[in-house]
Amino acid sequence: MNAVRHDYHMHTKRCGHATGEVEEYVAEAKLKGLAEIGFSDHLPFVTHRDPQYTMDMPELPEYHRDIEKARSRHANSISIKIGIEADYMEGKTDEIAKLVAAYPYDFVIGSVHFIKSWAFDDPREQDKWKNADVDQVYRRYYDLLQQAARSRVYDIMGHVDLVKKFGHRSSQDLHVLVDDTARVFRSSGVAIEINTSGLRKPVKEIYPEISVLRIYRKHGVPIVFGSDAHAPGDVGADFAAAAELAREAGYREYCVYAKRKVERTVPL
Ligand code: ZN
Ligand code: FE
Ligand code: FE
Ligand code: ZN
Repeated sequence: MNAVRHDYHMHTKRCGHATGEVEEYVAEAKLKGLAEIGFSDHLPFVTHRDPQYTMDMPELPEYHRDIEKARSRHANSISIKIGIEADYMEGKTDEIAKLVAAYPYDFVIGSVHFIKSWAFDDPREQDKWKNADVDQVYRRYYDLLQQAARSRVYDIMGHVDLVKKFGHRSSQDLHVLVDDTARVFRSSGVAIEINTSGLRKPVKEIYPEISVLRIYRKHGVPIVFGSDAHAPGDVGADFAAAAELAREAGYREYCVYAKRKVERTVPL
């Protein structure tokens, strides 16, 4: 099996809940023998400020400047791509699209972290799970994923079963929900990421799990890989397990992006 050498999901200390500078992530990636990394820090919210969740609007140009600088400094040793992780927020698509369009990206990850104003994966808001109807949360989550893909704002959908993060499980058969979602993803032209950060969370599983991933495979939804590193040491974390999972689901290649297009695929 070929090793996965492209990590498309990492943050920096700018977001307020990660540690490490761009240079430290690059150094770690080189140490681990990666061929390419893509930064995808959280895009500032268009609705409100949260210094523990995203950089502030005025920092966005600095984010780009830092990565551009690293890109040219390391041009001979590692490929560096500029991405962003942009939340999907119902009713805010135009504002988000506008902000995304203001800067050049190699890829844009669309993530659902919010159901209405509830950041359901945020440890600070974990309490709200106590009174939540888990089945309903799952349905809302998948509905929002579909809306996000349809918005055409994003290239790659992030951690597509994040709703399981704290270990809450739906009692319904998810097959139909995921199947519908995979159809929408396919027709919207988005890829999904195999995100290893779930292994570092209470659920202790990669996003998405094998049964879900198989459905995306069946519908021909392409993949990329991401560690969702929030510390330099996480770069490329558990990529052997991620590659194995992808192969088990039937995938034989993953995508490399440039300027928001699939530039080529790499065999798995
Ligand atoms: Zn984060
Ligand atoms: Fe995320
Ligand atoms: Fe992330
Ligand atoms: Zn993420």
